[in-house]
Amino acid sequence: MRKSIKFVTLILIFALTLTTFIGCSSQEANESVSESTGDKVVDVVVIGSGGAGLAAAIEARDAGKEVLIVEKMPMVGGNTLRATGGLNAAGTSSQAALGIEDSAESHYTDTMKGGYDKNDPALVEVLTSQAADAVEWLIGLGADLSDVGRMAGASQDRSHRPTGGAPVGAHLVQVLKASAEEKGVEILIETTALEILAEDGVVTGIIAKDKSDNEFTIEAEAVIVATGGFGANITMVTEYDVSLDGFGTTNHSGATGDGITMAVAVGADLVDMLEIQTHPTVVPSNGYMITEAVRGNGAILINRDGKRFVNELGTRDVVSEATLEQEGETSFLFFDEGIKESLSAIDGYIRQGLVTEADSLEALAEALEIDADNLIATVETYNGFVGENNDKDFGRDDMPRSLETAKYYAIEVGPAVHHTMGGLKINTKGQVLTEDGNPITGLYAAGEVTGGIHGGNRLGGNALTDLIVFGRLAGQSVATDL
Ligand code: ADP
Repeated sequence: MRKSIKFVTLILIFALTLTTFIGCSSQEANESVSESTGDKVVDVVVIGSGGAGLAAAIEARDAGKEVLIVEKMPMVGGNTLRATGGLNAAGTSSQAALGIEDSAESHYTDTMKGGYDKNDPALVEVLTSQAADAVEWLIGLGADLSDVGRMAGASQDRSHRPTGGAPVGAHLVQVLKASAEEKGVEILIETTALEILAEDGVVTGIIAKDKSDNEFTIEAEAVIVATGGFGANITMVTEYDVSLDGFGTTNHSGATGDGITMAVAVGADLVDMLEIQTHPTVVPSNGYMITEAVRGNGAILINRDGKRFVNELGTRDVVSEATLEQEGETSFLFFDEGIKESLSAIDGYIRQGLVTEADSLEALAEALEIDADNLIATVETYNGFVGENNDKDFGRDDMPRSLETAKYYAIEVGPAVHHTMGGLKINTKGQVLTEDGNPITGLYAAGEVTGGIHGGNRLGGNALTDLIVFGRLAGQSVATDL
């Protein structure tokens, strides 16, 4: 399994993700971005065009700053494009419309518990108290976040996504990119930040190179690092956690930790670097990540004996570990027609050829080469638990649907490197801190490149919250500080 999720598949998967979920080619998606033209002077330079970078750029631009984003890949969006599950927030208009009662306090408690209380409480307070505002801001920019579901570790339905449970990341990138461009943010693609410039401890800009490897300087009063994590840099991953040697990754190939290296070179401190999360439901043959929302909407995991082996809504580390203990180090994500109908992301998985389907449990068991009687017994027992609202075997506390409507479906899944929880140490203004705890003048960071927010384990749905909340915050802080 570990060897079978190969990095060589990343490019293919990235292309598939884009064409499937963003609904247009990368050329169309970037038709209005400009070419680099030599040295530049701006107020604010943002490194990276994922959710965090785009949100930061929009806020700084809204405050009247001249903002330039550099993006090393040929398209905007980074890992954010791949987010399918949702954006966690409590107390939103979307929840109210669905009659869901929730609170930022409950979101805070779940996040701290999910991270084993290793999280920085002040950052989690910001994350959870500003999450609802982030959702309303995105809706105001034109996003559809009207569908609300549950992700593992959440005590309430608070994961926001488009109508019908459509993939959320590509949608948000489209909305944010359109807004940034409309407001006058300049985006240079195929432009890699190489170095952050500083004089006497004050950041003054960056050195970047364009696609022809021409280096140039961008002078700026503030630099916002939004380069994402390092999940695609296996050397860096294994430097911090050698047990992940040989694992594949769900990350796009640009998630190489550049921002961490560049910021450390100007004095930034790091936090929680050992905390690297594996995602438990990744397709071994091609590294395609299956959103946690499938389990959230009711799917179960079964092993090659046709039996459940874990609370499917346990945290990602727990479910990953349990999967590695099963024969073949993989399992089958099992669901019925009802779950398929509840989440349109599943249609994409079927189109990609990732799903085995059958008209009966017997036929599915035969296709999966597992014991049919065991599978039937497992499903019957689980449906009984759903009826009694009591999972006597594994204590799963949210079982929204019984599994009783043909067709039946299964996807073979196993763990792969997913999210790097550690990164640059920031304060609640998004300023990057030194080892002494002092902010580096002119240096800000947001998104997966930062550390401390998710502690020892990130809850599904909290990454997008992090990107938007802290991206906005960094953009606002820059505008206030300049
Ligand atoms: P986040 O989720 O924190 O916003 P993403 O992975 O979505 O992070 O986006 C980060 C973006 O930063 C990616 O598009 C990635 O290609 C880009 N990036 C990473 N390193 C560099 C770099 N050195 N120069 C420019 N862009 C970079």
